[in-house]
Amino acid sequence: MVDDHDCLAALPAWIAAHGRGRHPGIRAALNRLAQTERERALARLGPAPVCEPVGASVDLAADFQRIHATWFSDIPPPTINWSRDTGGRQLRQIRYGSYRRGDPARIMIHPRLAQPWVARVFLDHVLWHELCHHRQALTPISREKPHSARFRAWERTFPDHALAMRWERHHRLRLLGASGPESGADP
Ligand SMILES: [Zn+2]
Repeated sequence: MVDDHDCLAALPAWIAAHGRGRHPGIRAALNRLAQTERERALARLGPAPVCEPVGASVDLAADFQRIHATWFSDIPPPTINWSRDTGGRQLRQIRYGSYRRGDPARIMIHPRLAQPWVARVFLDHVLWHELCHHRQALTPISREKPHSARFRAWERTFPDHALAMRWERHHRLRLLGASGPESGADP
């Protein structure tokens, strides 16, 4: 940033204003810096894994039913829904899925996972993760933490656990990002 002339020129006004107000020169420099950091972080990860995308219309109920029937058929299925849409804005964090115990128990999935480019293996992994919470809720151990050793062991039995985790590391920033022309249709 220090070799950035526009930014250097804008610094005195920014300092005098204690960072308040609009400072396009500073903002642009910070955005460039953030972009460079993102590119470096992705470069360190190596090539992104190639995974089948969920495609244009995700049938969440059908996906969930398949996973439940294949691996969790010994426990009753919770209800499954998309959670509330957060719109296309930049997010600081994202909760891909959530589980609420009760009768019926409830799983909610973040609608950003309905974007066509999202890997099916990752959506399936999130469904699997939440179903592990369901199994945990149905076989309670007193004072157990949600992501206990038992939970993590169950989670790792997902057939493509490492692949799903790797896909997420490569696409986390895109999932958090504001939706632009390249990020695909909104769910
Ligand atoms: Zn969890």
